[in-house]
Amino acid sequence: MAERYETESRKLLGRLRDAMAHDEAGQARLDKITDLIATSMGCEVCSIYLFRDDETLELCATRGLNPDAVHQTRMKMGEGLVGRVAKRGQVINTPDAPQYPGFRYMPETGEEIFSSFLGVPIQRVGEKLGVLVVQSKSAREFSADEIYALEVVAMVVAEMTELGAFVGEGAAMSARHSQPVLVRGVVGQEGVAEGHVWLHEPRVVVSNPIADDPAVEEQRLTEAVDQLRISVDQMLTMAQGDKDQQQVIEAYRMFANSKGWMRRMCEDIKSGLSAEAAVEKEQSLARARMSQSTDGYLRERLSDLDDLSNRLLRILTGQGADTGAELPSDPILVARNIGPAELLDYGRSLKGIVLEGGSVGSHAAIVARALAIPLIVNAGRVTNEALNGDHIMVDGEQGIVHLRPDDTVATAFRDKIAMHAAAQERYASIRDEPAQARCGSIVSLHMNAGLMADLPSLKGSGAEGVGLFRTELQFLVRNQMPKRSDLSALYARVLDAADGKRVVFRTLDIGSDKVLPYMKPADEPNPAMGWRAIRVGLDKPGIMRMQLQALMRAAAGRPLTIMFPFIAQLEEFRAARAEVDKTRAREERLGHVLPERIEIGAMLETPSLAFAPQVFFEEVEFLSVGGNDLKQFFFAADRENERVRRRYDTLNVSFLTFLEGIVARCAETNTDLSFCGEDAGRPVEALCFAAMGFRSLSMRPASIGPVKSLLRRCNLDEVRKVIEDARQRGEMSVRSAVMDYVRGQHQN
Ligand code: PEP
Ligand code: MG
Repeated sequence: MAERYETESRKLLGRLRDAMAHDEAGQARLDKITDLIATSMGCEVCSIYLFRDDETLELCATRGLNPDAVHQTRMKMGEGLVGRVAKRGQVINTPDAPQYPGFRYMPETGEEIFSSFLGVPIQRVGEKLGVLVVQSKSAREFSADEIYALEVVAMVVAEMTELGAFVGEGAAMSARHSQPVLVRGVVGQEGVAEGHVWLHEPRVVVSNPIADDPAVEEQRLTEAVDQLRISVDQMLTMAQGDKDQQQVIEAYRMFANSKGWMRRMCEDIKSGLSAEAAVEKEQSLARARMSQSTDGYLRERLSDLDDLSNRLLRILTGQGADTGAELPSDPILVARNIGPAELLDYGRSLKGIVLEGGSVGSHAAIVARALAIPLIVNAGRVTNEALNGDHIMVDGEQGIVHLRPDDTVATAFRDKIAMHAAAQERYASIRDEPAQARCGSIVSLHMNAGLMADLPSLKGSGAEGVGLFRTELQFLVRNQMPKRSDLSALYARVLDAADGKRVVFRTLDIGSDKVLPYMKPADEPNPAMGWRAIRVGLDKPGIMRMQLQALMRAAAGRPLTIMFPFIAQLEEFRAARAEVDKTRAREERLGHVLPERIEIGAMLETPSLAFAPQVFFEEVEFLSVGGNDLKQFFFAADRENERVRRRYDTLNVSFLTFLEGIVARCAETNTDLSFCGEDAGRPVEALCFAAMGFRSLSMRPASIGPVKSLLRRCNLDEVRKVIEDARQRGEMSVRSAVMDYVRGQHQN
């Protein structure tokens, strides 16, 4: 039976291809397909429904239902049997449709006389395109072979839809990837950008879904799979020594050698699909299962299979990442995800970045921030929609991406860009002015950095120095531990570029969200409160000593500033400082030129340190509040968890009162204090910190202009009074009171 059916479905596909070969309008093609399927499956009805927008399906062709219903009958995703097939991406097969749960009768179609119903999704690697349905009067249940044949045809219809074979009048039949699309995501780096799409991994285009000769296709598939197996084996050899990576590749290998996978693809080929279409068909099914599954392990494995299918498709089509397309002059990178090193390769040539996956704290996001490139993460199905060269606008303020925007959207967006540019000009005009508030107080503004790529901003932003140099970024963007000589050369270049301005080097802050690719992550139940930062540095001092040596050699004769992260108590600071003393003595013995002087400070990132004994404040040369961590521990709200991240306002009265206490303790001992968490770069927050007594803030370079501009418009004594009044009134946050005050100040 299977053999017979394979031949039947091959015949059907053959006829389909012949029908498609004629140069016809999209509607005529769809009509022909429904005719062909109805006839060869012995059914009275065959219909094709396509999505006209994300939520609505439209009847686009039918043989057997009322022809007047074509382009009239519509249903929402999940509505009726057709809507259910689309929503779940799964087949519905019933001899008695009206009795099937969720059935909805569409009177205009005249379908009430048909009893049996078989609907299969038209989908292309996880992208839902429509539903293909056959119906008949007799109450028959369709056989597994029939279902399979219809799925194969649906696969071909999906490929043809993608290739634009059904373009015609109306939204449901408009050319794919031609409509304006709005994608919502999460802001990873603020800013606005307009440009053209550059796909990091261009989608594979399958131009020949139907096979000429199954034997040839099977041979092609076998050869491609052989090649895939060899490359997986090579990956495994390269991953020697890295247990986690090995485990992932072992899973790949299991799939690459899976007989079931191969057998299913060969069956698809026998039934008339080309090798590429067969791979895609199995990939689509896996993706549909992936989206349904709640089992984490299964999802992981299905995602491995997905990745492997992509590799196989690239081998089969010869479409590598390099398609010969030329990088546009204003590229906006669109990708499912991207690693930090790859992103650095693109460097500042990119105008914007849109990622389907990713997270605000990912390494790619850190790099995007360092390069000051607007970034949106979690951007829906953007890689399914975007094509190389598409016009695209990135709104990194609202987390919105406009793909192929229409004129009205484009005009409004350009107004926004112009406003941005005007603001930038305003900031540039005060670049060399101090951040002096109207009351006369001056706040010194510094920038945060972590890569060599950051340093050019030192001049352009008007920063007085680097208030936080996150040294771990150098470790994160590499595949192996950097050597001491490399680090020392890099730190020397940083000091050269700073040209005498102070650079606060923070020693390695790894652990928690910052996991080095070449270090096995400690399996901890709560990594943010686990073995991280200075705790690692003190327990395993090898890396810290290497880093301290590199820093001293880089400074050689120049002043050096070192800051320890995540100090929770006095003893940790003393132990870390002792490492500096030991290293300095050793360097001296070895005959190296020592730094002119070494200033040693700490980050205040745990509430405990604010209550340290006075002697700590006397011994530490300066303190910098790491507000990102301090806030997460103060409110017990994980900074990486989208659900709770924004739950507590930084301008919450309790937090401000706590900060005020830190200012007071530092004042008692005359200890230098600054604030270097992300909040320092938010103008209203920065204003409140200044009003609480902070006289030094460190932030992203792009924030210096906006923060300075606001500080110069305000009087800190007045802001302090506004905060005090809000506190007296028992308000939870001072934000609205301060915002009201800010609105009353003139633009300068
Ligand atoms: C902080 O915690 O505020 C900080 C500046 O350090 P990081 O964001 O690197 O943890
Ligand atoms: Mg921190």
